[in-house]
Amino acid sequence: MQFDVDWLLLALAPVFLACIGWEAWHLARTRPGATLYSWPDTLCNAALALMHQGADKLAWLVAIPVYAYVYRHWRLVSWQPGIGAWLALFVAQDLLYYVFHRASHRVRWLWAAHVVHHSSERLNFSTAFRQSLMYPVAGMWVFWIPLAVLGFPPMQIVGIVLVNLAFQFFVHTQTVGKLGWLEYMFNTPSMHRVHHARNAQYIDRNYAGVLAIWDRLFGSYVEEDAHEPPVYGIVKPLDTYNPLKASFHEWLAMARDCSRMPDWRSRLAALFAPPDWCARRDAAHAETGLAAIRTYVSENNTEGDIGSRKT
Ligand SMILES: [Zn+2]
Ligand SMILES: [Zn+2]
Repeated sequence: MQFDVDWLLLALAPVFLACIGWEAWHLARTRPGATLYSWPDTLCNAALALMHQGADKLAWLVAIPVYAYVYRHWRLVSWQPGIGAWLALFVAQDLLYYVFHRASHRVRWLWAAHVVHHSSERLNFSTAFRQSLMYPVAGMWVFWIPLAVLGFPPMQIVGIVLVNLAFQFFVHTQTVGKLGWLEYMFNTPSMHRVHHARNAQYIDRNYAGVLAIWDRLFGSYVEEDAHEPPVYGIVKPLDTYNPLKASFHEWLAMARDCSRMPDWRSRLAALFAPPDWCARRDAAHAETGLAAIRTYVSENNTEGDIGSRKT
């Protein structure tokens, strides 16, 4: 019987569920009253995981033929099967994951999907389940096309993507402290707690999938500081456990922002600039408006209050 690799995450579900059960039990005993788990939050995470799994199965139906076409016609290398090829695949995919993840925080179109993963104000193993069914629409699968160009067959690509995601389940916990020398090499719970935090010093840091080296190489690494406990969630809290709202709220906000923009340039920026571009634009316009009022007030000697100006 051959194992179908795109079922990997579902096959590992019993391991994931056992870890969640253990962690909830352990935290209830060691940190009573901390409410690091809550049923509405965990059930929302589970619903999001199932929705994401369904969307992912459909996405592979489109993505695999694309990878196969690129592999057949445009591959640059033909690998001899063996450990060398697997290592190259692992490192290349992990680097591409870093690129995808960093882009997911800096391009609003991708953030609209990725925000789901960050919108819980808790962090525990079940947070790893919190994924978006919109990743295929956002284009996550496009980031793995270079692997086909590098000569890796489609099912190996699917397999390594899922291995990377499966590994990341284990970094979503507050029960494990720093791990010594491993912190230099691998994404760890400490490193990933920083990634989920909204503290000013932590935000948009530590994008690693499996290897920590990319963050250190490309300047996005920040160490967890014992004096600055992470505050989890997003800057503008979601305030709902509804998985549909969690999945679509940012897409709707992005569509609203896009439609109120006055020209094509700013409409495109509303979609593809950093997630806070529209808010910054609004603030700059408000500042310009205030400056104009101040100039008007000073030029007309209104003593600071335009509303009380006598004519
Ligand atoms: Zn992220
Ligand atoms: Zn995470």
